[in-house]
Amino acid sequence: MSDRTCAHIESVTTIKQPQQLECAECVKIGSNWVHLRTCQTCGVTLCCDSSPRRHASAHARTTTHPVIASAQPGEQWLYCYPDDAFAEY
Ligand SMILES: [Zn+2]
Ligand SMILES: [Zn+2]
Ligand SMILES: [Zn+2]
Repeated sequence: MSDRTCAHIESVTTIKQPQQLECAECVKIGSNWVHLRTCQTCGVTLCCDSSPRRHASAHARTTTHPVIASAQPGEQWLYCYPDDAFAEY
């Protein structure tokens, strides 16, 4: 993977960790998810684009919160939706 960062990612100084290892929106509707991502603006944990509902990217679009972190145990990376930028930490 490339390590192409952006101003949004650089402005993240403390990584927000997931409060719970579940998608807040999938839980409400009884859906399933594949992987989890945590929004670095508001801290909500939602599901990835491999999940049927893609709640994390929907959240990024509707709120314009740009950066998510992987909430998967052992994964340490950030992704910015508007810039399609990725960085490990
Ligand atoms: Zn960015
Ligand atoms: Zn979800
Ligand atoms: Zn958010």
